[in-house]
Amino acid sequence: MPIIQLSKSNFFYNLDSIVKKSGSVEKVALVLKDNAYGHGLCEVAKMAQEYGISRAVVRSFVEAQEIEKYFEYILVLADIPDTPSSKIRYAINDIKNISKFPKGTLVELKVNTAMNRNGISMSEIDESINAIKNQGLVLEALFTHHSCADEVDGNYELQKENFEKIKKIAPKGIRFHSCNSAALFREENFSEDMARVGIAAYGCLELPQELDYVSQKPILSLISKKLSSRLVQKGESVGYGATFIAKEEVVVSNYDFGYGDGFLRSCSNNYKTSQDVAIAGRISMDNSSFLSDLDSLEIFNDARVVAKSAGTISYEVLTSLKSYIKREII
Ligand SMILES: *Cc1c(COP(=O)(O)O)cnc(C)c1O
Repeated sequence: MPIIQLSKSNFFYNLDSIVKKSGSVEKVALVLKDNAYGHGLCEVAKMAQEYGISRAVVRSFVEAQEIEKYFEYILVLADIPDTPSSKIRYAINDIKNISKFPKGTLVELKVNTAMNRNGISMSEIDESINAIKNQGLVLEALFTHHSCADEVDGNYELQKENFEKIKKIAPKGIRFHSCNSAALFREENFSEDMARVGIAAYGCLELPQELDYVSQKPILSLISKKLSSRLVQKGESVGYGATFIAKEEVVVSNYDFGYGDGFLRSCSNNYKTSQDVAIAGRISMDNSSFLSDLDSLEIFNDARVVAKSAGTISYEVLTSLKSYIKREII
């Protein structure tokens, strides 16, 4: 089994820069969906509590329950509860869902400002607010989500303008939030009530150079131990499909991790570890071979590097890591 190490000092370093951008620790809502982006839900929740973060965002009620004791406020993005709670808020993603929430539920209304994925349309705001009242729900916030916050071109400015219009017509006393990590870090003067920050806290935010921003430090490393070792002669192959052929006599060791653990198979043949150790052939389910004799290999310490090799984004690399892998805080 591989193990995952989490650097608490890097996590706190990232949180420091997030708090600085948002203006106060109370405005930071740490996004912990999908097992805290693969880092481990409770491990990250505990560290966040130690730091002083009081707000969290998750996907489901089940996730919210697991971390309830660590936070004062939890926003659930995609679930409908059986009973209301004093701590857990629920996003309303569609006007048709309002009637499904039990009386007394704390809700936040998501508004579609051009992403066209979730949320009521801007013309449905009054009708939705009335329906929320009639259903006996407690509306605490209006929020939206950006489709292009990490791009120079695209809908970013349009969505911002749309959300500003919404703020003007909203009833008094309502809170507003629109920023994910990319939006928070590209903004000069953040002034909303809260920012929903995921990837920046995990140290893997990437923005185009034009959007000058403070960089963070990745907090997750994947470590794997050697299962066996051998000398491979020139011309011999390694692994499934015999895709690696030795150009000279080499030591090849096999390590105890693979795509079964969530390491993307598309890293086969071309991947190099964080210490520049080259892979030999394909990633298999529970085994991967490298040109190394080390007893233990750090497979990666920056998911962005793996993402480049696999042709994907760090979010997928991280959330693919299986929850059974032991998370160790260092
Ligand atoms: C996942 C998510 C976020 C966090 O996005 P990052 O890019 O990781 O900061 C914020 N808001 C919503 C609605 C999300 O689904």
